[in-house]
Amino acid sequence: MFSGGIGSWAAAKRVAEQHGTKDLLLLFADTQMEDEDLYRFLHEAAANIGGELVKIADGRDPWQVFINCRFLGNSRVDPCSRILKRELLRRWLEQNCKPESTTVYLGIDWTEIHRFERAKRYWHPWKVAVPLCEKPYLSKPDMFQLLERAGIEPPRLYKMGFPHNNCGGFCVKAGQAQFRLLLEKMPERYHYHEAREQELRRHLRKNVAILKDRSGGKTTPLTLREFRGRVKAGLNTGNDWGGCGCFL
Ligand code: SF4
Repeated sequence: MFSGGIGSWAAAKRVAEQHGTKDLLLLFADTQMEDEDLYRFLHEAAANIGGELVKIADGRDPWQVFINCRFLGNSRVDPCSRILKRELLRRWLEQNCKPESTTVYLGIDWTEIHRFERAKRYWHPWKVAVPLCEKPYLSKPDMFQLLERAGIEPPRLYKMGFPHNNCGGFCVKAGQAQFRLLLEKMPERYHYHEAREQELRRHLRKNVAILKDRSGGKTTPLTLREFRGRVKAGLNTGNDWGGCGCFL
């Protein structure tokens, strides 16, 4: 499973070193909302690893999925990654790969080993392996160093400070810190998501929002529009980054 993240490059690199590249497929599911530099990285990383890069897409982006499902994804329920990634990839596996002769490799690293059991259950009957949970353990800086040695420029979102290279720096599972960074580094993109959130609220006729306000002892939806106002007013917006786990 090749996501365009540093972890999936490092994992695929290990697979290539251990097993060769003759039967190696680098399977990428496009959410149609990726950062433009992801595609540059995807192709350079795939050329460096070897194997065949296979790109598939449902055709919708996460906002279109939320409209179709009449539900805004959140940190617990994520129809976007379920439909645009997991189910799409699973269908592709069903059509193209026999479970008895195929291993699904994921870029989970040793700090996320708790996700492995859940991933194994999800991808059954395919065998799942997580090369980055094996020794020698690599930290994220180690992976960036290896990438530099391979002569590949990291995806630009990492350099801007984003923790992952999914959905162009956006994620319904992201916390306030990531949205503050998105507003700071790519205000136009932030405004685009702010407008899509407003559109979905009108469509659903519901007070829903990606972010939550937990002040005053209760939890209420906090729209990207309101959140932008808080950032502009210099209010403390917290340090919650949230977490993305599209393949899990
Ligand atoms: S990165 Fe976030 S918004 Fe994008 S598909 Fe994954 S869970 Fe959904």
